[in-house]
Amino acid sequence: MAEEVDFSSSGEWSVDEWTKEWTIHVGMAYHCLKCGTMVMVTKGGIGVMEPRCCGRDMTLVARPDDIR
Ligand SMILES: [Zn+2]
Repeated sequence: MAEEVDFSSSGEWSVDEWTKEWTIHVGMAYHCLKCGTMVMVTKGGIGVMEPRCCGRDMTLVARPDDIR
């Protein structure tokens, strides 16, 4: 049984903000600063996107929301 999380009591994050943060958009791209590998999201969804390469987190380089 999963714990219920009451977002309204946190005071910092609204449900909308969480949903936005968890939404993986097609076109989001991540870049590895060490080896130059780039990954791009080709299928969206809800979840946490934390690609790693060379033992470190990859850097978000493009968000569709910013380009639009
Ligand atoms: Zn790398």
